[in-house]
Amino acid sequence: MFNVTRPHPGPDCSTDYRSKETVTALREMFFGKCYLCEDEVSDPVVEHFMPHEGDPAKKYDWNNLYYACHRCNSIKGTTSEILDCCDSTTDVSQAVKCLCPSVPNEAIVVENQQDDAKTQNTARLLDKCYNEDNTGIRGISREALHEKLFEYYCKFISNRRTLKNHDASPAEKEKAKEHLMQMKDVSYPFSVFWKWHILSDAFLTKL
Ligand SMILES: [Zn+2]
Repeated sequence: MFNVTRPHPGPDCSTDYRSKETVTALREMFFGKCYLCEDEVSDPVVEHFMPHEGDPAKKYDWNNLYYACHRCNSIKGTTSEILDCCDSTTDVSQAVKCLCPSVPNEAIVVENQQDDAKTQNTARLLDKCYNEDNTGIRGISREALHEKLFEYYCKFISNRRTLKNHDASPAEKEKAKEHLMQMKDVSYPFSVFWKWHILSDAFLTKL
C-alpha cells in the first residue's frame, strides 16, 4: 500500500461517483494503480473505502472514493477498519511489509509491522488481495498478478546485479541506481515491494 494526497476541492460527484471527471481525477491521484495491490489498472472500479450500503452520504462522498482493480474490490467487500492511504499522518508502506517470492507461484510475503487492529486488518486484507485463490477466477487473477509482479522483480534484480558487476561502467551503475530509486517512488507499480526489498538489503540501503 502507498500514500497518496487527495486534491481538494474534488470533482462534483454528488449525483454520479463514476463520472468521467471523477474517474479521471481518481486515476491521476492514485497514479493509475489499485490502492490495495498497486497493480496498474486497465479496467478500474471506483471503490468505497467505508461501505456505503443504505448511506447515500458515503456513496457520493469524494473522500470515500478510491481507485481499485476488480480483484481487490471483490476481496475487500465490506471490510472496514483498515489503514487509510489518504491519511498523511500514517506511512502505510512502512506499516505493512511486502516481499516478492523467489518463484512466481509461491505466496507473496505480507507482514504487519505494528500490532494495532487497523494495521493487522490491513495486512490480512493485503495478504488476501495478493494470494487468495479460493475460486477459479481468483486463481487466474492471482496468477496474472504474480506474473506481473515477478516481471518487475526481475528488473529490480537486474539493476542490483549491474551495481554489483565489476565490469559495469560508472554510467551503467548510475543508471541502475536511478532506476532503483524510481522503482521505490509511490508512482511506480508495486512500489511498496521495492521500498522493502531495498530496506531489507544491506548492500542497497547503503546507496
Ligand atoms: Zn488490486
